[in-house]
Amino acid sequence: MSLAPSPLSPLTELQTTRYGLFIDNQQVEPADGAYLDVLNPATGRVWAQVPDASLADVDRAVASARAAFEGEWADWRAADRAAFLIRFGQAIADHADEIAQLQVDENGKLIREMAGQARLMPEYFNYYAGLAQMPTGHTNPLHLKQMLNYTVREPLGVVAAITPWNSPLLLLVWKLGPALAAGCTVIAKPSEITPVSTIRIAELAAECGLPPGVFNVVTGYGQPSGTALTTHPGVDKIAFTGSTATGQAIAAAAGRSLKSLSLELGGKSPNIVFEDADLTSAVNGLIAGIFGASGQTCMAGSRILVQRSVYDRVVEELAERAERITVGDPQDDRSEMGTIACRPQYDKVLHYIDVAKGEGARLVAGGTPATVDGFEGGLFLRPTVFADVRNDMQIAQEEVFGPIAAVIPFEDEDDAVRIANDTQFGLAAGVWTGNVQRAHRVAGKLRAGTVWINNYRKTGYNTPFGGYKQSGVGRENGPDALREYTEEKSVWVDMGQGVKDPFNPRA
Ligand code: NDP
Repeated sequence: MSLAPSPLSPLTELQTTRYGLFIDNQQVEPADGAYLDVLNPATGRVWAQVPDASLADVDRAVASARAAFEGEWADWRAADRAAFLIRFGQAIADHADEIAQLQVDENGKLIREMAGQARLMPEYFNYYAGLAQMPTGHTNPLHLKQMLNYTVREPLGVVAAITPWNSPLLLLVWKLGPALAAGCTVIAKPSEITPVSTIRIAELAAECGLPPGVFNVVTGYGQPSGTALTTHPGVDKIAFTGSTATGQAIAAAAGRSLKSLSLELGGKSPNIVFEDADLTSAVNGLIAGIFGASGQTCMAGSRILVQRSVYDRVVEELAERAERITVGDPQDDRSEMGTIACRPQYDKVLHYIDVAKGEGARLVAGGTPATVDGFEGGLFLRPTVFADVRNDMQIAQEEVFGPIAAVIPFEDEDDAVRIANDTQFGLAAGVWTGNVQRAHRVAGKLRAGTVWINNYRKTGYNTPFGGYKQSGVGRENGPDALREYTEEKSVWVDMGQGVKDPFNPRA
């Protein structure tokens, strides 16, 4: 694997590479010289270091993004921004293998899953290149004569894009595409667990001709660098993906300065199997829904609701399939599940296994760490299935963010909908049935931002994604995503009648 040329040097003979903050199109040292280690979760080895940014670094990044917003970037036409996005997408396509590799080193996602994701990313930029050039306003019919009113959408300003460790690149792309298409500038703050791939993406953007300051990267912990961004007077908008608890803290902090906000938060999504479903297809979808990315996705189908008449059969098949999943080296194409991304998350998942057992859920598969030859320090877990879960148990109500399926029986359609909606979350849901009326009836009753019928875990650049209830605010992707990065301005024009004296209109 070749890393991008870095101005900051290799540290040791173990080839740990030190990266800088990315400000004004170059890597720079942090003000106080503090760095943090980046670990590979499969090997347990430190392979990179990035700055642990301080308030001074955040100030510097914000000043750079603000200057860029008011500088050369403001003069770029929509057509220029579109042309850049297409170049940038092409650069990502040209470096797809390298980018995929970096993220696998950061969070242990399977290379085969990541390679597909990296190849899809350019399509997001192509899509937003198109949207950048669409009409943005209206001419509005008025109740007044001799007046014209029109609206324009203008870039919102400086955006803080705060991303989590489970899918740092794709979730950054979801923000970067519409933000740059709209004409905003962006400061990305990746999780301290997965910062390197974001720095590399920023380098590629610079190489594609993005003016300095339009896309900066600040690395470091949520506290202080994340908080500094969310409270900074120079930041106009926060686009955040992560846990509901952090989203709530960010919303409270942003509220004090009334920053614009979009939040894509947690989930405990129901994947509902009716007795009339194609059970082979359904079980494949259940497996993909909860064990894809080791269950570390906001949209994981972590509550599996199964109609009583087919419950035993589905539980048995799920358990058998879970036990057959090959847990292994994320770099190996034969592996079907990689690692948990970091030690605290690994401990959290193990804790929830104990919680579920303590609550009386029946363990039918997994439930322990997995051992992988040659990767003794790796954070591997066996795919785990708990049956006979009640929806009021912690394991059914709290986001675990790991490869743990909670299977819950239901009696009929009303019961399924009631259980599915009995949660603080509302991100996504799956419905498996052969009955077309039921499919749409149930989809209509589910309080979730996305419903998949006879499939699961699909997203795309042209389809909105976001949550009901405590799963989020706003939508990413799709034609309206651009609106999240613009302000609407209403312009009134007198068409020639002039303005009369307000106190003596007859004069
Ligand atoms: P967080 O939601 O805490 O972190 C997400 C991002 O926000 C990271 O970049 C983090 O930085 C940053 N951040 C943390 N605190 C603040 C703050 N006060 N102000 C601004 N930014 C902040 O996720 P964690 O990584 O801590 O994971 C905790 C749990 O969240 C997981 O166990 C999982 O359940 C859930 N999660 C859910 C995700 C989802 O998509 N729904 C994604 C990731 C996690 P840093 O990491 O550097 O602290």
